[in-house]
Amino acid sequence: MDATTTGDWALPTIDADRCSRCGACYVHCPTRAVAFDDDGMPVIVRPADCAYCGICEDLCPEGAVSLVYEVVPCHAPHRSGPTGPASGTCR
Ligand code: SF4
Ligand code: SF4
Repeated sequence: MDATTTGDWALPTIDADRCSRCGACYVHCPTRAVAFDDDGMPVIVRPADCAYCGICEDLCPEGAVSLVYEVVPCHAPHRSGPTGPASGTCR
């Protein structure tokens, strides 16, 4: 894959020159977003299901997977609670 996004989704990139086709990203993807193309290359076949969790990047023995965006958790207060509606939002 060359693109890091498909439509509205940020996606992992996989370097075809580094990939050994070991299948670890496929086996361990928690959302089953990965499958193989006809050449045995892993591909994000269900981009909407990719949680951008980084497991494939962490487990790839060849360093072939890259997630170029950093995921920053949102810590805005809940929208409602004992003290009433919150004013913070995540963007
Ligand atoms: S884990 Fe890495 S080397 Fe193995 S198939 Fe996936 S991208 Fe290729
Ligand atoms: S980032 Fe997570 S959900 Fe997306 S393909 Fe990799 S392991 Fe699967």
